Amino acid sequence: MELYRGEVLSEGVAIGRIHKLNTSTISTECRGIENEKNRFNMAITTSLNQIEELKKASIENVDYLTIQGLLIGDYALTQNVIKLINEGFSAVDSVHKVLEDYIESLAVSSNTYLQQRTLDILDIKNRIIQNMEGTTSRDLETKMIVYSKELHPSFLIQNKHNILGIITEIGGFSSHGSILCRQWNIPYMTCELNLLEEDMVILDTRKKAIIVHPDEEYMEHYQQLIYHLEQEDYHAIPHRDFGFYANVSGNNELDKVLDYGFDGIGLYRTEMIFMNTNRPYSFEEQVEIYSEAVEKLKGKVICFRTFDIGDDKQLSYVKSFKKGVDNYINNPLLFKTQIQALIAANKYHNIRIMFPMISSAADFKFLKRWVLQIQKSMNNVSKLKIGMMLETKEALDHIEDFIDADFISIGTNDLTEDIYHIRRDSQTQRLELYIKDLIDQLSRVVVFCDKHHICLSVCGELAAISTAAQMFYRIGIKNLSVAAPAIRTLNKVFKEYIKTY
Ligand code: PEP
Ligand code: MG
Repeated sequence: MELYRGEVLSEGVAIGRIHKLNTSTISTECRGIENEKNRFNMAITTSLNQIEELKKASIENVDYLTIQGLLIGDYALTQNVIKLINEGFSAVDSVHKVLEDYIESLAVSSNTYLQQRTLDILDIKNRIIQNMEGTTSRDLETKMIVYSKELHPSFLIQNKHNILGIITEIGGFSSHGSILCRQWNIPYMTCELNLLEEDMVILDTRKKAIIVHPDEEYMEHYQQLIYHLEQEDYHAIPHRDFGFYANVSGNNELDKVLDYGFDGIGLYRTEMIFMNTNRPYSFEEQVEIYSEAVEKLKGKVICFRTFDIGDDKQLSYVKSFKKGVDNYINNPLLFKTQIQALIAANKYHNIRIMFPMISSAADFKFLKRWVLQIQKSMNNVSKLKIGMMLETKEALDHIEDFIDADFISIGTNDLTEDIYHIRRDSQTQRLELYIKDLIDQLSRVVVFCDKHHICLSVCGELAAISTAAQMFYRIGIKNLSVAAPAIRTLNKVFKEYIKTY
């Protein structure tokens, strides 16, 4: 029996045999320019079809898959590959080179959000190459623990029912793969190990432990533990003076949110619904979507974030580079239509409108005024709270300027990148390296919000990590917004909090 320690990206316990992900070598021989071009074009078509199939089978991940589809179908990417094939490179080499160049330029980009996309590009690269070579990673036929260099979300989506746990050499807790694992309760750790196919392993994230070749006593103990953990409940424990909110990307997630007993929606990522069409949704279409959500929530708070596009979240019908306020200024009709539809859907006065990526108080004031003007022009008098995400260093440094915000929600995913230059998919992203400093900085925000009676919450991934969530509670941030399955983390942290205070 051997014991190793790893970094925890998604909590849980698992026992199972190891499946090592395919890292087979591929042929890089050029078999004629036309032949290589055909191989490449066919692989693109197959990859796009696979993405469409996955989208149909997995409503929860449409956002992630849409991004993959957009990247695979990207015109510049295809043209760059074809150019190399015309120069005599094989299709495999060309795809490899073009996508590795992308990865390299993302890695040195000053835009940290772009830096995190390297795993997505790797995932796409593997899919296209495997489709050219016919070496797609074999799907899991039985339940196993997966071991690989890095986690490719498309493999995860395809095999989620047979994955007991995951160990990768590299990974970060804001990567798409980690977010999905937490969404589906799949334990996930990073650790460099010398594992063989079929090795028996126990993953115990509570102890940061990976036990290889466990003895019988351990096996028995862990089997019982897993049985008890499976009996755990997903329903919010009754709480007063705390807010348990959910992050969603579409109306299809709302039933679960209500079933689990959340107090409302703390973050509705509206750009994700925009990404499912190839044209802007009309006012009427948006009213229908938002109204359906409002009706479902039955009077509970629902916080719609205005479309947060740019960087890796692109809409095929809008030109945008960076995320931020400029996207609204450059696309005023799109912004206005969304705001009008949200206001029209605010039948029960429970809608909150939240702007992402705010960096200055002037930008926030400008957008708030714009929304209020739109409301006035509609002769609408519904109560409307207008707030912002705190997810840029600039806004954090000048938090005292934001007295006009009705509420503030801390987006730790973007904020920690902006402050600490952390890459989501990097192993160096160790919570203990920066959490104390972050908490110190956020304490200022708590004082400011208390003084001005501004409702404060956290909606970034850190809210679902128990160590961090505990610290948020301690400094007085009582509203946390997480992906639905993380209700168990909130329950646990809340119970601990009550015990200590
Ligand atoms: C964040 O940045 O923390 C956040 C919640 O927004 P997103 O992950 O959608 O950028
Ligand atoms: Mg963000």
